[in-house]
Amino acid sequence: MTRISCVVALALFAFCLRAEDAAAPAKDDAASRVVPNDGHKDTPMQPNGKWHVHDPDRPQPRVVTPGTESSPEKPGKPPSDAIVLFDGSNLDKWYSKSKAEPCKWIIEKGEMISVKGAGYVFTRDDFGDFQLHVEWAAPVPAQGKGQGRGNSGVFLHGKYEIQVLDSFNNPTYADGTASAVYGQVPPLVNAVRPPGEWQTYDIVFTGPHYKDGKLATPAYVTVFRNGVVVQNHTEIVGSTGHMQVGKYDGKTEKGPIGLQDHGNPVRYRNIWIRPLKAVDE
Ligand code: MG
Repeated sequence: MTRISCVVALALFAFCLRAEDAAAPAKDDAASRVVPNDGHKDTPMQPNGKWHVHDPDRPQPRVVTPGTESSPEKPGKPPSDAIVLFDGSNLDKWYSKSKAEPCKWIIEKGEMISVKGAGYVFTRDDFGDFQLHVEWAAPVPAQGKGQGRGNSGVFLHGKYEIQVLDSFNNPTYADGTASAVYGQVPPLVNAVRPPGEWQTYDIVFTGPHYKDGKLATPAYVTVFRNGVVVQNHTEIVGSTGHMQVGKYDGKTEKGPIGLQDHGNPVRYRNIWIRPLKAVDE
């Protein structure tokens, strides 16, 4: 190859590379730019009045890389768009008695442990509708009984408790057992693992919405415990509490995630959240 043809070949190669760059959208939003060629505009409108059935212009779902399953020894990996609330390294996303002070719970071996008297912990950030993943383990050896054994809780918007309790051979009132909406709705089943073993809560929560201070739509929650559905689009009737029927406050549509100090050293790991938007948003 002559020197001139070598230069021409190099220039052509560089041009091809640039052209390829220009044609390739950024990886993250590649899917949203693809216009499918198998859609239809000559079809009836959907009941929402916005899109035809099979509308080619309807936005593509965002691409999310799924996470991995946890094992007893090791927490899994969150999905690519999750906000990690606790990964074993620090409690920076949490506060206990005051936002101005560090969280008073402790970390041991990458696990976050409830400390008696330290109080509830809350995320510094607020969330509206979301998917939440929490892993927890009740203390061993099991001590106490009923509400006194392995009690903690996951508080949605800081107000609605999904009960955490050692429910292994530990009868208590049904609306206070593990994965109950505390004081309101018992779980469909007791999908229990023994104390000391890691258990998962996968929670899908739609918060309440208000119009002019009045409840427009209540909160709903779906919970999988250890992969088993235990709350199926359950309506929440107001804030949860001991020996009371709670009410909605007429204003809070976003709030923190809380974890309860009930005096038992319940352990947590691998906590992440994915705020949810409506379809097409
Ligand atoms: Mg509790």
